[in-house]
Amino acid sequence: MWFGVITLFPAMFSILEQGITGRALKKALLNVTCWDPREFTHNKHRGVDDRPYGGGPGMVMMPQPLQDAVHAAKQAAPRTPVVIHLSPQGKCFNQQAAQDLLAKECIILIAGRYEGIDERLLRLEVDEEWSMGDYVLSGGEIAALAMIDVTTRLIPGALGHEDSAALDSLSSGLLKYPQYTRPESFQGLKVPDVLMDGNHKEIDRWRLKQSLGRTWLKRPDLLVKMNLDTHQLNLLREFIQEQTLSY
Ligand code: SAM
Repeated sequence: MWFGVITLFPAMFSILEQGITGRALKKALLNVTCWDPREFTHNKHRGVDDRPYGGGPGMVMMPQPLQDAVHAAKQAAPRTPVVIHLSPQGKCFNQQAAQDLLAKECIILIAGRYEGIDERLLRLEVDEEWSMGDYVLSGGEIAALAMIDVTTRLIPGALGHEDSAALDSLSSGLLKYPQYTRPESFQGLKVPDVLMDGNHKEIDRWRLKQSLGRTWLKRPDLLVKMNLDTHQLNLLREFIQEQTLSY
């Protein structure tokens, strides 16, 4: 997976050298190269921003340095890239969008700063806009990092265990079941018996029931989008009954 990032803060991307993304970089499953628009300015102060026409607060990123940076990234890309602008005005990024991104293999991410980017650059160069959520970040870098991290988890071979990504919350549309590790008892709270018995059929059944139940409790909006089969519906009913009895 190849990412070209257009950013005024390339140093922020060194964090990708840690953990799962770091391993993916070392194994050459992931390539992240940054282009700094300051390197493409035509003025002696290396300015990349100016006041907005029509007045108003803050500064706007000028189109020329950004466009030259995007063109440099396009030339270096191993195949025709999709150009994405990280923006609070974009569609909300999610697990399915990450899966679609993975299939595209070659992505240029534009991280804005200040009050944002001159509209003409967006019209000329951008294919898609994605948001990290309904809030305003100071810059697109943190959004770009999240996007790269989420997508890297889906690259075959990037995780220690091949099934990990498929079992993550949201991959199947449901939240992940509760997880436990040693000790068996912690401050009076015991690991559920079913997980200690080694009966994998029962463990799978319990985990699916918990996934359905947790999603029902914490994110009912996700369940509405799913078409549950009879087995899943029965498990969810069982979960709800157990909840009612425990109160
Ligand atoms: N004035 C802009 C607006 O109201 O749409 C917001 C500018 S914000 C301070 C600076 C940059 O941060 C944006 O150009 C964008 O690249 C990035 N950004 C801010 N919030 C974001 C979000 N929720 N998702 C993705 N990128 C975001």
